[in-house]
Amino acid sequence: MDSKGLSRLSLGNYPTPVVELTTAVGLKPPQRLWIKRDDFSGMELSGNKTRKLEYALAEAKAQGASVIITAGAIQSNHCRQTAVACRYLGLKPHLVLFGEEGKGQGGNFLIDQSLEAEITYVHPSDYPRYLDLMADLKMAYEAKGETAYTIPIGASNGIGNFGYVEGYREILQWQEGTGTPLDAIVVAVGSGGTYAGLRLGHYLYGRSPGAIKVGADKTRLVGISISSPAADFKARVLAILKESSHYHEALKALNPEFDPAHMLATAEKEVEIVDGFQGAGYAIADSQAVERSQWLAKETGIILDPVYTGKAFHGLMTLLDQGALGSQVLFVHTGGLFGFFGHKEG
Ligand SMILES: *Cc1c(COP(=O)(O)O)cnc(C)c1O
Repeated sequence: MDSKGLSRLSLGNYPTPVVELTTAVGLKPPQRLWIKRDDFSGMELSGNKTRKLEYALAEAKAQGASVIITAGAIQSNHCRQTAVACRYLGLKPHLVLFGEEGKGQGGNFLIDQSLEAEITYVHPSDYPRYLDLMADLKMAYEAKGETAYTIPIGASNGIGNFGYVEGYREILQWQEGTGTPLDAIVVAVGSGGTYAGLRLGHYLYGRSPGAIKVGADKTRLVGISISSPAADFKARVLAILKESSHYHEALKALNPEFDPAHMLATAEKEVEIVDGFQGAGYAIADSQAVERSQWLAKETGIILDPVYTGKAFHGLMTLLDQGALGSQVLFVHTGGLFGFFGHKEG
């Protein structure tokens, strides 16, 4: 991003490819469907957190950090991507994982272990206090003379958000290059940062003077909740956007007309997060979503995971069948393959 006050590290392979799925999934024009392979951001780095980490870890480096502390479930894709990115950059990863030592196996956790990430296990019921726990760990490092930098779950915060501002710009560039207006972009919502970043990108670029014009400001951004009620996620997205608005200079550099109050009021009106596809909740596979994922794998060779992308894609196809998304739709594949390889707990 060419902007004042924000630096970006290059971690992932961008832009990620966009592939058309229309015929493979049995759709007929004018109905068309594309998939953006953000699961291709890199091998060890595969997934949507990599974009966010390009900004968050740049900030960490600028602050002189040598240790990065973050948190997530045992099979957290985010923690694995953070640990990998840290090792790429010569930083030490410290993960706060919700679960019991010895219970997690395979998948993301195996990679965390291979990287010799420092791990602190906490009981899942400690989730509400996890920010305090990370702050305590940070203080302990500081007492030893090391600078630690904390990243909240999913890197879904003001700085991480800029990853999907950039992701949105990529989508616009693809639209411009191929002359493809979109009615809707659909993405899984797990901690809200991917959706919030796309929303901020939509605001900045869809309306900026001389910006990419492919009907950008008419594209709907539809988030599919994979866990909490959509109303809670809407509040979360607005909070993240508010945090991002503190990077005022960087936002002005992207769009001189940027106005935080107007951006938040617009988001309040336009945030569209959908309920109905959570199944029994976070990390609990839903049989219909699994069936839909297996069908997609057979038709296209594309693998989805049961925690995030499977539920989101099931939501997308259901809404598409109901005629609720318009005719040209892009699905963002946010990754999750290593989680799919991870053993279930319990
Ligand atoms: C984290 C994650 C998501 C959700 O993204 P948020 O920015 O947390 O909403 C979706 N898919 C996968 C595979 C993820 O790891």
